[in-house]
Amino acid sequence: MRYGEGLLEEIRRRTDLVALVGRRVKLIRKGRVMWGCCPFHAEKSPSFKVENERRLYKCFGCGKGGDAFKWLTETEGLSFPEAVEKLAAEVGVELPKWSPEDEEREQKKKSLYDIVELAAKFYEEQLFEPAGREAREYLKGRGLDGAAAKQFRLGYSPGGNNALIGYLAAHNVMQDDMIAAGLARPGEDGRPMRDFFYNRLMFPIGDGRGRIVAFGARALEADAKPKYINSGETSLFSKGSQLYNFATARAAAIKAGTIIVAEGYMDVIALARAGFTHAVAPLGTAMTEDQLHLLWR
Ligand code: ZN
Repeated sequence: MRYGEGLLEEIRRRTDLVALVGRRVKLIRKGRVMWGCCPFHAEKSPSFKVENERRLYKCFGCGKGGDAFKWLTETEGLSFPEAVEKLAAEVGVELPKWSPEDEEREQKKKSLYDIVELAAKFYEEQLFEPAGREAREYLKGRGLDGAAAKQFRLGYSPGGNNALIGYLAAHNVMQDDMIAAGLARPGEDGRPMRDFFYNRLMFPIGDGRGRIVAFGARALEADAKPKYINSGETSLFSKGSQLYNFATARAAAIKAGTIIVAEGYMDVIALARAGFTHAVAPLGTAMTEDQLHLLWR
């Protein structure tokens, strides 16, 4: 357990549970207790109560109940540590730092997140440049418009001129970090380092919190092989234990009560545009056990 009970209690104490639950459920005061219609089962008269004093919510209809952390895990699909981090940030409780090594790893990760995010922005911009025309045509041919591209932050990696490396270098990113972020291939046999992705339609892949950690990429030339590639494994990304569109889909899946597993990125996007936002796809592999665990969560 990473966080002590004292710390968790402090976060619970500072959290206005009524306000937190009130974001999703209309609550009416009766004495010292707030009541509303339970969000976990269908009902017409309120049997769901929220008490700031005891920092608990409870439904007398279906029995669901718990504290602020439980509320976030149940309604937003966050993991417990994610719920703790989210509430701590909201109420201004500083979470303890771990060991210096953990800290360093985390710092490094943070800067890798920033670098991958920079790359995502670059690819997004390129899609709407003249060079991105072929990628735009492909999307049009698949029935996807600019709004779909923006929603999924689709992008285009230009061909052959190490455009991303140039862009990242201009943003003071070190070459080693470009490689560590999975965005560049190291130079070999006297040849310089090169962009990992070129002339491909880019699909940013988010982690459980929606931060972009990697890319899937579809070739635009008809005879290019392989048609799809992913970022290599990095400290942010492991393709066997992550799913495309997971952060968005899990919140939607809780509402829908089910989750759809599609074959690829384009299927997930098409489903979302048709109103099925609770869809995910594996990342260019058969489903793994880790991915099944994610789905059960
Ligand atoms: Zn209920």
